[in-house]
Amino acid sequence: MRVLEKAPAKINLSLDVLRKRDDGFHEVKMIMTTIDLADRVELMELPFNEIRIVSHNRFVPDDQRNLAYQAAKLLKDRFQIKKGVSISITKTIPVAAGLAGGSSDAAATLRGLNRLWKLGLTSDELAELGTEIGSDVAFCVYGGTALATGRGEIIKHISPPPHCWVVLAKPTIGVSTADVYRNLRINSINHPDVDGMVDAIYNGDYTEICHLMGNVLESVTLHMYPEVANIKEQMKRFGADAVLMSGSGPTVFGLVQYESRLPRVYNGLRGFCDQVYAVRMLGERNILD
Ligand code: ATP
Repeated sequence: MRVLEKAPAKINLSLDVLRKRDDGFHEVKMIMTTIDLADRVELMELPFNEIRIVSHNRFVPDDQRNLAYQAAKLLKDRFQIKKGVSISITKTIPVAAGLAGGSSDAAATLRGLNRLWKLGLTSDELAELGTEIGSDVAFCVYGGTALATGRGEIIKHISPPPHCWVVLAKPTIGVSTADVYRNLRINSINHPDVDGMVDAIYNGDYTEICHLMGNVLESVTLHMYPEVANIKEQMKRFGADAVLMSGSGPTVFGLVQYESRLPRVYNGLRGFCDQVYAVRMLGERNILD
């Protein structure tokens, strides 16, 4: 039997870091929303008891370091599954980009194996298991739009933002999330108004959403990689309504309300960056059902 799952990327419309916790994690408060840029995860039963990762992307590990592998291992151990599975990952989401590609592959693997192995787990149960793999996996199990707190694993679903386009540009550097957090100076950052953003989204106020976009991790990544700041500048110059770095970067995204404006932003960025995408925001919760 074979199961196919879509594993969409996320962007952060707002990302705040409140403090470093005693357990080493950072307490965050952020708004995540799903976009129409997705990997494809195909799960197939194997006749022997093994987890096999198939990926043709040289940046994606094909062993236990892969988050999809960890998702399968977790389910196998927790529910004493003695079957093998091949997990084939077709990457579209750029790797180490701040778009939660690995986390989304893990979430898709949890959803898919729940079906393949007929485990009967609810989304909430899958999200709780996902938290053991990584902080962003819980959100990726559901997709949609959410306020995420704790270390990112406490999910409160909120209404979807108004429809718009998202242009993404990923410079040819990979950023380590751990390095960015290590270099963050919490006492000297400008905190974005995350609650204000929740209200703006609730009110469908696109102008206010653009106005309130903010990410405290920009202060670190832009300092480490000036090309990210340059891409932000270019994206503004080519007419995006608002521009921000996603997660720990280095991907920069711009919101564009009117489709007629999209080619100018997209084509303008193509001159500076190899990996440029123009996709829809997909903030509705039922996109993965
Ligand atoms: P995060 O912000 O959670 O660190 P990210 O979106 O910035 O994630 P990912 O694309 O998830 O970055 O990749 C981060 C690292 O995770 C990669 O360098 C890669 O070695 C490893 N990795 C593990 N599993 C996967 C996967 N399925 N797809 C991509 N990378 C993976």
